[in-house]
Amino acid sequence: MLVTPDIDRRNRRSSRWLAGLVTIVVTSVCLGQSAIHWQNLIGYIPWCLVVGVAFGLGTYWLSRRKCRRRLRVMNRPFPNEWEEILKTRVDFYNALNEFDQDRFRKLVQIFLAEVRVTGIRTDIDDTIRLLVASSAVIPIFGFHDWDYSRLSEVLVYPDAFNDEYQTDGEDRRILGLTGLASLSGVMILSKPALLAGYNGAFAKENVGIHEFAHLVEQQAESHGLPVEVPHDTVRQWIAFVARELKDPQHSRAHINEYGYTNEHEFFAVLTEYFFKSPDSLKHRDPVLYDMLRQIFHQDPASLFGHAHRSPTH
Ligand SMILES: [Zn+2]
Repeated sequence: MLVTPDIDRRNRRSSRWLAGLVTIVVTSVCLGQSAIHWQNLIGYIPWCLVVGVAFGLGTYWLSRRKCRRRLRVMNRPFPNEWEEILKTRVDFYNALNEFDQDRFRKLVQIFLAEVRVTGIRTDIDDTIRLLVASSAVIPIFGFHDWDYSRLSEVLVYPDAFNDEYQTDGEDRRILGLTGLASLSGVMILSKPALLAGYNGAFAKENVGIHEFAHLVEQQAESHGLPVEVPHDTVRQWIAFVARELKDPQHSRAHINEYGYTNEHEFFAVLTEYFFKSPDSLKHRDPVLYDMLRQIFHQDPASLFGHAHRSPTH
């Protein structure tokens, strides 16, 4: 989430209220304890006030900390090399207008400041970091007050891996994994698969976007939907997916069959498709496209269409 002047103002106001409340409560508790010694109560008042104010200031600092840190990160210059990587690798970024590109860059900066990207038995560079961050930003670009609050680290593996997280054992078919249970707060991505999602190797697949779509769904289930997502559309989506998984329609054979594993994979696979080849999805299944357009609060078919037309204007 970006810190707009309005969000900063609201955070400052709520922090002041919280700090005031903490000051009053702590001072009162302190005085209550001191009241046991009534004869000394007057002498305790200044001390209790000092303790209360100290707690209040601490609360204000804690409550403002995230917002201030993000403002500092957003105000840092965006390195030219990073911009070059986005321009050469990320079609979505190139399709945005200048204002939205600025928003995208700031979201990337915030993501990389708050989530570690670590290579496991493999080197990672700015390209990998930028592609991980782009995969995170693309699905949530239509939301204005939403964070990957449960994610702390993305591990980048040198290749596909198996159920034991081995990249050199048998049955290595996993390209990405979003943490559950013991892996909570961690995502794993295969480096070659991540790169392939951005080099035009696949028409509808992007493992980075796929895994972040899982996170969006998990977080929305436990913390509530982003405000931009209409509840009716989600109800419509859930009913549609249940019907489709039970009785797959022949006309939807263009959807990667892995999506038919369960409702979560269906959502993640369709999210990749929606952002990778929106024109194709819209053309083949306009109703399905429209549901995803409302869920993500984005219209990538128009975005890419506009970007592709603009050079002739
Ligand atoms: Zn998946």
